[in-house]
Amino acid sequence: MKTLKTIAASRRWRAGLDSKVVLVPTMGALHHGHEALIRHARGIAGPSGSVVVSIFVNPTQFGPKEDFASYPRPLASDLAITRRAGADAVFLPSIGEMYAADKSVTVNESLLSATLCGRSRPGHFEGVCSVVAKLFLATQPTHAVFGEKDWQQLAIIRRMVRDLLFPVTIEPFPIVRDADGLATSSRNAYLTPAERNLAPRIFDAMTQASKLKTPQAIVKNCTSGIKKIPGAQIDYVEAVDASTLHPLSNRKQIGRLAAAVFLGKARLIDNVHLPLFA
Ligand code: AMP
Repeated sequence: MKTLKTIAASRRWRAGLDSKVVLVPTMGALHHGHEALIRHARGIAGPSGSVVVSIFVNPTQFGPKEDFASYPRPLASDLAITRRAGADAVFLPSIGEMYAADKSVTVNESLLSATLCGRSRPGHFEGVCSVVAKLFLATQPTHAVFGEKDWQQLAIIRRMVRDLLFPVTIEPFPIVRDADGLATSSRNAYLTPAERNLAPRIFDAMTQASKLKTPQAIVKNCTSGIKKIPGAQIDYVEAVDASTLHPLSNRKQIGRLAAAVFLGKARLIDNVHLPLFA
């Protein structure tokens, strides 16, 4: 596996390839959810294609009071995971490599970013779009894999690719969960053992509520289920149209129940499918 530390090195590596190049953008602290994404990328690339995993804790997507400084950075174990999952290269740029000190151009998606996490994390998706656009330009993938765990991010990246004509096929990957239902996340490391035991109850409440008929009943039931979890503080619980992210008014469109919940130091996000309801 090749380690690419600069944009120049990444472009040189890319220039020698003429089959599929599949990018998996990550912030590192890799867990088995990321590993499944990389294996999926390997499958898309096939034997003649290449997989590149980027590991970059992107400062511009963190708010001033968020966890940029304390975000875990276990590089040795990240490299072991990328290697064992079958990546051909890992792109590890420094902040200076990615951002000029006097940078003044960003990428901003203005509709889908106005809701859910975008409402509680101002500037977050502008940071995400800007860095993903730059990762696309640095590695020039034919395909890029994004997890459905970050449903809103996936919708926004698809919109960015469509509206800015990036020649990249976006490949979604379903949410990977631990055996007890908690979606795997680098931020699960912030949970104490007691909080870790309580955390799957968020997904339980969402699953239970998703069986109800109206979006209003779903949100109400899910909210009261999460409120019963000791120490849980709800950021949002919303039922939205799965593609426009507009509030879901009935079950004639495919929906998504999305939630963000603080548990101790961790802000956990999750989402579940809301099928059509006849
Ligand atoms: P992150 O390192 O958290 O920025 O995530 C990198 C990529 O992995 C994103 O596309 C995430 O949506 C995806 N991802 C993270 N956790 C999971 C999970 N539990 N299931 C599916 N995809 C995930």
